[in-house]
Amino acid sequence: MKTKKYVKKAKKNLLYVADKEDVVIYSGKGMYLYDIDGNKYLDFVGGWAVTCLGHSSPVISNVLAKQGKRLINSSPIYHNVPMIDFANLLVENTCFSRAFFCTSGSEANEGAIKLARKYGQKFKNGAYKIITLENSFHGRTLAAMSATGKPAFKKLFNPKVPGFVHVKINDIDAMQAAIDDKTCAVMLEPIQGEGGINRAKGKYIRKLRELCDETNIILIFDEIQTGFGRTGKLFGYEHFGAEPDIITLGKGIGGGFPLAAILTKENLNIFEKGEQGGTYTNQPLGAAVGHAVLKEILDKKLHKNADKMGSLIKDELKKLSKTYPIEKIRGKGLMLGFDLKTEIAKELVDTCFKNRVLINSPRPKTIRLIPPLIVKEKHVKKMIKRLAKSLDEILTQSEQ
Ligand SMILES: *Cc1c(COP(=O)(O)O)cnc(C)c1O
Repeated sequence: MKTKKYVKKAKKNLLYVADKEDVVIYSGKGMYLYDIDGNKYLDFVGGWAVTCLGHSSPVISNVLAKQGKRLINSSPIYHNVPMIDFANLLVENTCFSRAFFCTSGSEANEGAIKLARKYGQKFKNGAYKIITLENSFHGRTLAAMSATGKPAFKKLFNPKVPGFVHVKINDIDAMQAAIDDKTCAVMLEPIQGEGGINRAKGKYIRKLRELCDETNIILIFDEIQTGFGRTGKLFGYEHFGAEPDIITLGKGIGGGFPLAAILTKENLNIFEKGEQGGTYTNQPLGAAVGHAVLKEILDKKLHKNADKMGSLIKDELKKLSKTYPIEKIRGKGLMLGFDLKTEIAKELVDTCFKNRVLINSPRPKTIRLIPPLIVKEKHVKKMIKRLAKSLDEILTQSEQ
């Protein structure tokens, strides 16, 4: 039992930020993670929608080795081959024409917020306000926390960055009422992830697009969780028949390697010299990984697999809901959620963990499933079986 010893050290030497399971992960392969004592876990969290190609994918480890031998880092002031190739591949496969690469989702959102404010300064008399949604999640830097509509963030680290207004999802009247002549942008997730898998409706998005055009406001989609095949299409915006002006990407873009991006339409190529940058922006090793990940998704049509496996999981959950207290099964592709009738989500996550399947609970009644895009039918069947077993254990216990 090495776990005890290591956990003790971890608790002694690392800055506390959140509670963790008493487990030390040692390795991963495909759909499975292994702890330091050799226990094997079926992973339906994927590092929070990050490891889209599964764990330790040879696609990623090979490109890391190859590019790592050629060039790990040059400098933001020189061009490099991977950043050019990756930007080109993204432009070819989206409605956008410009890319900027950085290292975390929060950093990408910071950049998008700055770009929106730049637009306000240049074209809208200094308009700076950005409207976001209640229960949204946009990251943990100070501006991203200010943009976030999570109630628990409200009282933290004040004063926040001013200029963020929060309105209800799918309420176009509330949106319209919130817009004034100081508004430069609207930012939202096509499907809210941390907020508990809440979908923006197609009609709402199309109306919102019209509203933004009429009022000369930028529409930003935070696709950090919905991008890179997660929802059954390559990008979340493809579901709506309406295009945003900017998307931010993170999580799946690097398949586990720290990478993020901002994609914009041509008319937003408006940063001036020195206004945006960073030591690790457009960095060759990260860009090489991103390029390989996107190529693999395209070659293997993994977004199609996400769509297919997502439907299968939903069907299986519907069957379970006949005997277990499961309701409100929702989401798209492999970004799925369901509610439990009582607040037992945390208990279910813990019991599933004990039964060697990893799931996630973003809210007290909600379970979220965001497995790697390579998931197969046999994994789904195994997860459902262990989920039912765990529910049995919890429910018989509460009867006693
Ligand atoms: C995870 C996430 C972020 C933050 O990304 P980090 O890489 O953790 O900074 C922002 N927006 C959404 C929608 C996310 O899911």
